[in-house]
Amino acid sequence: MKITDVEALYLRLPEITDRADGTQDTLIVRVHTDAGIVGLGEVDSSPLVAKAIIEAPMSHFIARGLAECVIGEDPLEIEVLWQKMYRGSIFFGRGGAAQQAISGIDMALWDIAGKVYQQPVYKLLGGSFKKTFRAYASILFGETPEETYEIGRRFVDQGFTAVKFGWGPLGQSEAGDLAQVSAARRGVGEEAEFMIDAGLAYDVTTAIKRAHQFAEFRPFWFEEALHPDDYEGYTKLAANAPIRVAAGEQEVTLAGFERLLDCGLDVVQPDVARVGGLTNMRRIGQLAARRYRLCVNHSYKTGVSIAASLHALAALPNTYWLEYCVEDSPLRQTLTRQRFPVIDGYVSAPEEPGLGVELDEAVVAKYLVKA
Ligand code: MG
Repeated sequence: MKITDVEALYLRLPEITDRADGTQDTLIVRVHTDAGIVGLGEVDSSPLVAKAIIEAPMSHFIARGLAECVIGEDPLEIEVLWQKMYRGSIFFGRGGAAQQAISGIDMALWDIAGKVYQQPVYKLLGGSFKKTFRAYASILFGETPEETYEIGRRFVDQGFTAVKFGWGPLGQSEAGDLAQVSAARRGVGEEAEFMIDAGLAYDVTTAIKRAHQFAEFRPFWFEEALHPDDYEGYTKLAANAPIRVAAGEQEVTLAGFERLLDCGLDVVQPDVARVGGLTNMRRIGQLAARRYRLCVNHSYKTGVSIAASLHALAALPNTYWLEYCVEDSPLRQTLTRQRFPVIDGYVSAPEEPGLGVELDEAVVAKYLVKA
């Protein structure tokens, strides 16, 4: 079997705002083979940047587009092809958007392998430590504490046992932050868990202070409080916070995650559509397991990323949460035929061969931006 083509489909909503909502556009990857099997993947990046990295013509042997690295090759040699893409893009890659773009092709290769072997991807990754994951509804903070309270209530009423609130107005004032976090706790009630995603709002001194102030509301973790380059700050925060410290969604390399683990983080959050797909997510998750830390997916895209996240998590021993984006965007809610329902607060890994996810072609046609 050989790879015959790689398609990169840029989908976007008619209107895009600067709100920290990754479901306004996406890049879907389809890898075609001469056996007629097609693999599906997704990239979380700036879609047209990643599309260019996939489609670029060769400049020389370490400056190649990712598509031409894999066309003509056997799609089942996933590790070999991962290295070929990584080495082929050394000149402009070794991280960033190139690594994010590798994710889409890698995901599609695992999908193809699952379809060839007629097994769900998690089995090819070594099997399932768990098949169901406690879904936390992932959403942005409301503009006001009242709105945040209502958001918390709404998702707990829908059956979620945890809600994560992120970005938005956090970091504007001490009183505002405390009002927001207090409203989040009241909204979800005493029984449910909630997480705080600070969205890069603080310097380390403020973050340590907030971690102590937020502790009385018992958040499960305190996420991305600092700039992703502030490793020294994360070391200080992790050493001084009375609550769990989480980060990692901006990291894409194994070395980056190793550095975060060295900072003492409690929770690392690789995104399968950013870190180089399932191949690298497994390495990151296993590294975190060896360091006895929790590995939780970051995911704020479509059903393709949800499916891939579930397979990745299933094959890791050190995880039980699923980040489950609840944005209303039609790309999040309707792009895939599978909807990954939340049942008693939990979501199950797909059991169909491959990733177990298909696109609704009518939705693709509606949001596809033609080059
Ligand atoms: Mg986050």
